[in-house]
Amino acid sequence: MTDDQLLRYSRHILLDEIGIEGQQRLLASSALVIGAGGLGSPAALYLAASGVGHITLADDDEVDLTNLQRQVMHATARIGQPKAESGREAMLDLNPGIEVVALRERLAGARLDEQVRAASVVLDCSDNFATRHAVNRACVAAGVPLVSGAAIRFDGQISVFDPRSADSPCYACLFPEDGRFEDVACSSMGVFAPLVGVVGAMQAAEALKLLLGIGASLAGRLLLLDGRNMEWTSIGIARNADCPTCQPG
Ligand SMILES: [Zn+2]
Repeated sequence: MTDDQLLRYSRHILLDEIGIEGQQRLLASSALVIGAGGLGSPAALYLAASGVGHITLADDDEVDLTNLQRQVMHATARIGQPKAESGREAMLDLNPGIEVVALRERLAGARLDEQVRAASVVLDCSDNFATRHAVNRACVAAGVPLVSGAAIRFDGQISVFDPRSADSPCYACLFPEDGRFEDVACSSMGVFAPLVGVVGAMQAAEALKLLLGIGASLAGRLLLLDGRNMEWTSIGIARNADCPTCQPG
């Protein structure tokens, strides 16, 4: 590590759980962030600031005025630019010592599989069930841990789905792909700005812990946040023995 890096990451290096070895591990790690919106903004910025060395940010949308109330990675001057590019600019402004790849696309099929396989951890910061299920399937197939977050109105949720662990459920164990759950979009329902910040920052925290092997992840637990009363609820979630996604055959 260079002198600059020792200074930049000094508050991580001071932590017994991280140290120089852990920081080097982060610098050598790859994270895939799917979605550069409300959740992806804090998640990607914290990963960048923390020195995750290789970050891929995927989003097919452009920065819009209505995004800026909560998507803090973007800027008024970048309205109209691709979100992936705008996010890359913000991340490199914060930390030019990392590599950021901006993908202006909605990852699907073989492209999604390829990107998930190349990552040590995946953060699902998308806003719809179709993407969440596709990302979950790719993570199960590749054996890559998935940090999943969602937020709408004043309600947030976060969990980790870790296919490396035999008793960890996958996203589809919890939310079956049978269409029972319907998308509720921020555009019609609204969302409290700091809520996506709280959930997105927690996604970054869980991703960093997974990369570092620190503590216990949220695998097997779903955290629900009621932002009106600022109350967290933790629910134990088990693997579904009949889940067609993670229990083939
Ligand atoms: Zn499953």
